Amino acid sequence: MSSASRFDPLEALAATRHEFGEHGGVNMSVETSTTFTVMHPETMPEIFRGALGPDHGGCYLYGRHFNPTVSVLGRQLAAIEGTEAGYCTSSGLAAIASTLMQLCDSGDRIVSGNTIYGGTYALLHDYLPGKAGVHTDFVDEGDLGAVEAALRVGARVLYVETMANPTLEVARIPELAELAHRYDATLVVDNTFCPLIVSPARLGADVVVHSLTKFINGTSDVIAGAICADADFIARLMDLHTGSLMLLGPTMDPRAAFQISLRLPHLGLRMREHGRRAMYFAERLSERGLDVTYPGLASHPSRELLDSMRNPGYGYGGVSCLDLKSAELAQAFMDTLQNDERFGFIAVSLGYFDTLMSLSAGSTSSEMSEEALAAAQISPGLVRVSIGYTGSVEQRWQEFETALTRVGLG
Ligand SMILES: *Cc1c(COP(=O)(O)O)cnc(C)c1O
Repeated sequence: MSSASRFDPLEALAATRHEFGEHGGVNMSVETSTTFTVMHPETMPEIFRGALGPDHGGCYLYGRHFNPTVSVLGRQLAAIEGTEAGYCTSSGLAAIASTLMQLCDSGDRIVSGNTIYGGTYALLHDYLPGKAGVHTDFVDEGDLGAVEAALRVGARVLYVETMANPTLEVARIPELAELAHRYDATLVVDNTFCPLIVSPARLGADVVVHSLTKFINGTSDVIAGAICADADFIARLMDLHTGSLMLLGPTMDPRAAFQISLRLPHLGLRMREHGRRAMYFAERLSERGLDVTYPGLASHPSRELLDSMRNPGYGYGGVSCLDLKSAELAQAFMDTLQNDERFGFIAVSLGYFDTLMSLSAGSTSSEMSEEALAAAQISPGLVRVSIGYTGSVEQRWQEFETALTRVGLG
C-alpha cells in the first residue's frame, strides 16, 4: 500500500482538537444542561431554522438536538472511522434503526447480509415491514452475484456487518460499495466487531454504525451507539422536521458520552490485547483438532480478505467461535469454565475486559428461525467467545484446557 493511502485511526484521533475542561482540566467538562441560553432573542428563529448552529456563529439549542459533550464524542468517532462527521445515540440498535429510517421511505427495499446481529435481523425482518412498509431481502453477502441480483430489483440500502455475527465471515466492503453505488443504493456497515481494525468508510461505505456498548466502551456498563457519515447525512438526521435522531429521540446522555470518550485513548491497546489472546486460543484449539473459527487463523476463508482491508497493528479482533456440535456439550463446557474454573462469564455481549461466552443459536441469534440459522451456518453447539484480557494468557489457557478435559474433550 502506498503511504498516501495509509490510514491509522488512532493517529486521526490524536489529531482531533484537544478539549480542555472548563477550568483548564486535562479532560473536557461535561455539559449536562438540557437547554441553552440564547443571548440575543432576535436570533432564536434563525437558530430554530438550523441556520445559526454552534458551528455557524450561533449557539446550542436543546439537548435532544446537538449537545456539546456528545458532539465531541461524535467527532472523535468520526476521526477513528475517517468520516467527515459522526453523532451518537442511546444504543447501537438506535443508531441502526435511525439510519435505516432516515434512508428509507415507505415502500423502499433493503438488501441485507443474512448473518447479522439478531436484533438487527428482527428489526429488518419483523418490525420494519409492518411499521414502515420497508421490506428486506436477505442474501449471502459473500455471494456478490446474489447481492447484485437483489440490488438490481431496486434497493435504497445495502446493509452488512464488517464481521458477521457469529460466523465471523468478513464482508468484501470495496466490492459491495462498488455494487451498491452502481445501483444507487447506500452502503451501511455495522463495524461493531472491528473498531480500529477495519475502516469501512475508507473502503467505500457511506454510513458506518456502531454499538459502542461492546469493544469501544469496553467495560459492559454503558449501552450506546454511533453513526459516522458525511456532514450532510448527520445534519439530515437532526432536521427539525424530518430527522430520525431529532424526532424518534434516541438521545445519548452527555455523561455517557464523557465516560466513553475517556476510554478511546486506550482502545488501541485493548484491541491489540483482545486480538493477541484470541489468536493464542484459536491456534491452540485448532492444534487440538477442535472446530474453531477465528478470522486471524491462516485457515479461515476470510483471512486474506481481512488482511487486504485491515489497518495493520490492531490484530484480528477479540471474538472467536468454538463449535462443540451439541447444545448439551456446549452448555456443560461453559458451566465448568464459569463455575469450576472461574474463567469468564456465561453472558451475551462482547468486548468486555473479561471473557464473555454464549451459545449463539439460543441467545443473540434466537430471533432467527431454524432455516435462517441453518442458512447462516449457526450450529446449536456454537459457543461464541469474546476473549478478555484479565489474568495471564498461560493461566487462562490452563483453565480452558482443564475445562476441556472435564467435559471429555481433553
Ligand atoms: C450488540 C450489537 C448491536 C446492538 O447494539 P446495542 O448497543 O445493544 O443496541 C448491533 N450490532 C452488533 C454487531 C452488535 O453486536
